[in-house]
Amino acid sequence: MKTHTKVAVIGGGVVGCSVLYHLTKLGWSDVMLIERSELTSGSTWHAAGGFHTLNGDTNMAALQGYTIRLYRELEEITGMSCGLHHVGGVTLADTPERWDMLKAERAKHRFMGLDTELLSPAEIKKIAPITNVSGVLGGLYDPLDGHLDPSGTTHAYAKAARMGGAEIVLRTPVLETNPLPDGSWQIVTEQGTIIAEHIVNAAGLWAREVGMMAGVYLPLHPMEHQYLVTDDIPEIFERGTEHPHVMDPGGESYLRQEGRGLCIGFYEQACEPWAVDGTPWTFGHELLADKLEKVAESVEFAYKRFPVLETAGVKTVINGPFTFAPDGNPLVGPVPGLRNYWSACGVMAGFSQGGGVGLTLAQWMIHGEPERDVFAMDVARFGRWITPGYTLPKVIENYQNRFSVSYPNQELPAARPFRTTPMYDIWAQHRAVFGQQYGLEVPNYFALKDEPLYETPSFRRSNAWEATRQEVMAVRSGVGINEVQNFGKYLVRGAGARDWLDIIMAGAIPKQGRLSLTPMLAPSGRLIGDFTVSCLAEDLFQLTASYGAQDYHLRWFEQHKAAGVTVENVSDSRTGFQIAGPNARDLLAKVTRADVSNEAFRFMDVRQITIGMCRAWVQRVSYTGDLGYEIYVGAMEQRSLWNTLSEAGQEFGLRPFGMRAMMSLRLDKFFGSWLNEFSPDYTAAETGLDRFIRFNKPAQFIGKAAVLAEKSNGAKRKLCAFVVDALDADVHSYEPIWIDGTVQGFCTSGGYSHYAEKSVALGLIPTDQAVEGLKVQIEILGEMRDAVLVTTPLFDADGARMRG
Ligand SMILES: Cc1cc2nc3c(=O)[nH]c(=O)nc-3n(C[C@H](O)[C@H](O)[C@H](O)COP(=O)(O)OP(=O)(O)OC[C@H]3O[C@@H](n4cnc5c(N)ncnc54)[C@H](O)[C@@H]3O)c2cc1C
Repeated sequence: MKTHTKVAVIGGGVVGCSVLYHLTKLGWSDVMLIERSELTSGSTWHAAGGFHTLNGDTNMAALQGYTIRLYRELEEITGMSCGLHHVGGVTLADTPERWDMLKAERAKHRFMGLDTELLSPAEIKKIAPITNVSGVLGGLYDPLDGHLDPSGTTHAYAKAARMGGAEIVLRTPVLETNPLPDGSWQIVTEQGTIIAEHIVNAAGLWAREVGMMAGVYLPLHPMEHQYLVTDDIPEIFERGTEHPHVMDPGGESYLRQEGRGLCIGFYEQACEPWAVDGTPWTFGHELLADKLEKVAESVEFAYKRFPVLETAGVKTVINGPFTFAPDGNPLVGPVPGLRNYWSACGVMAGFSQGGGVGLTLAQWMIHGEPERDVFAMDVARFGRWITPGYTLPKVIENYQNRFSVSYPNQELPAARPFRTTPMYDIWAQHRAVFGQQYGLEVPNYFALKDEPLYETPSFRRSNAWEATRQEVMAVRSGVGINEVQNFGKYLVRGAGARDWLDIIMAGAIPKQGRLSLTPMLAPSGRLIGDFTVSCLAEDLFQLTASYGAQDYHLRWFEQHKAAGVTVENVSDSRTGFQIAGPNARDLLAKVTRADVSNEAFRFMDVRQITIGMCRAWVQRVSYTGDLGYEIYVGAMEQRSLWNTLSEAGQEFGLRPFGMRAMMSLRLDKFFGSWLNEFSPDYTAAETGLDRFIRFNKPAQFIGKAAVLAEKSNGAKRKLCAFVVDALDADVHSYEPIWIDGTVQGFCTSGGYSHYAEKSVALGLIPTDQAVEGLKVQIEILGEMRDAVLVTTPLFDADGARMRG
């Protein structure tokens, strides 16, 4: 065993072996893997080995596609068999909602280049004849679905990694991981000590315990999971070809051929968490006791869907544990707060996702960033607020919903409310219907009298429609109020703060008393943030950005920190309200003695003024695109500020508005939003944020070379706005945009502009097509809807109201 290495991967399951292989594939050969027992000793050996591309998140689906295509490559490199069965698979829909979901998925696949197909019940019966299609509305067929040999595949990854120079050390438990002053790690094992420049935690079932060795809590939890293997079934073994996979979300089951019989697994409602207080180190190559009573209802259902099962004997029951994060996606990337410590855990579908996880992590470690937006699996997407007490109910909920329809407007109820602002009970009295963002309760809308305090999950327009419309109109015709809590907020201090910001941000850093909008870029020029920077004093700046990106952004600031500059996260300690609408200035004038006239307090100014009893920082800017102000105070003063504003606001028609209204209002102005239009998948030039870049500022800001190159070559695609002839469903995201009968672009987000009474979509199309009046079609839930490209904002096109 070597004593020094560039990378030590802890854990020899499918994920650790994939990471190891990808590190060698991308050029690092001084790498090793340390496994406490034999390879595959965690969840990996007893997996059912199924793989598929379907995933609600488009980038996750792309990584799953990569994983599946990789297996042939592995077989060729190593000469080993992964035991591949590319049999294809069909996911059934037995409700209109599930059918909508499959149609939406199919539409997304068009621009992803995935050859999925919608099938009628008769077509399903033809390819998967053991299926009783009564009550089935249709299905989505994916030719890439299949299964493999979990152990053979893991060993193939390991062999390919060894061929690339990697060392694999077996029967060597890691006991301690200790950070060293130079950023490297001392790894204490039963066989001796290793110094590694980087650590990768790929310890699967034991990832929590290995994380704790470095003092970090990784939010994941193991769940028990069962599948059954049947005796031989003539209807199966007498067929000339292998039976395809059938996923039956209505029955929470997945089914495939196993030898001459079938294998069927369940995501049952009566699910059971495993090893709540920690995974025992003594747990080895073993299974858990059968708990058939837990899946009895699902089995009953499966008998109806696949009648051949009723007479088939059960040969084996497999009950094994595997880990989930609260949202079911992996936890990948640099762990915030630690140096050179990487996570590759929480992978609940190692054979669909393991290749993509390995590739992503290797790119991140070697190239400094992954090639696409991987926020959906970034370990930083959960903040420091997360605890085992939150993770467990969320993981249970996720397991139970594994096969549920997932709606764009859905708010899942487990572990709520958890984090609330001082306004929570006041909003509740106003009939707030809350959503959760980064653990925080945020009003989505305020239910009208006699309306339920619950938004119906739907792909179509929901029961929040009228309340949202009224909130929008209150903003546009009077004044609306909402919290500024759900912004990530940072204070940057120090004599070098301006110079540092000039490097970190691509845009102008404002003069004292002014704000600026600026993109933050990766070296590749891709967007990693859209910030508002306010200069409060020459050595004090406030930054605001997405609330959910706090750890993501802080990790970046930490990686690029400079002597004498501090960054403090004040997202939760500094809060307040936004007031927006034509009466916003009159309201502000009534609650302060400061001069807030347009001459004294211009658009994009920031001032410290007293409002009621509160000392507040007020910025004149609003994401609603209207005349508006963001008012920041300490969290302890928020209720007092509310009392002042709400009392004074009566005469101006002040009305609270929620996130649904906010997202409608921003569409009037075609404003993009973080992770929809602005994400690491896109560049500033593609999304129009290049108008905020100061290409000629002297600072060598991060991403400068890349954006200058893009500027001279021009971006190949461009973000555009469309008015859509929609029916009862608006664009949500990733709907394909058809031009002249072919898919040439896709939507990034959309919704209904209540102010303009139009359905609006934002999306990327080839730059040379992007002209006013272009007629396109957008496929919404399987239907082609006509749309037209528009360039004039639907509200305040000349900015007179916003700036006036
Ligand atoms: C019943 C069942 C069926 C499944 N079916 C499927 C399926 O059909 N398709 C699919 O994609 N997924 C399936 N899964 C999930 C799949 O098994 C997991 O996603 C995958 O195995 C996770 O792999 P891993 O490498 O992250 O973790 P693990 O397999 O748990 O590997 C972690 C490794 O780390 C080692 N380790 C831990 N601590 C230390 C230490 N301190 N020092 C050294 N080594 C250490 C362990 O010994 C272990 O070998 C199934 C799981 C179960 C339980």
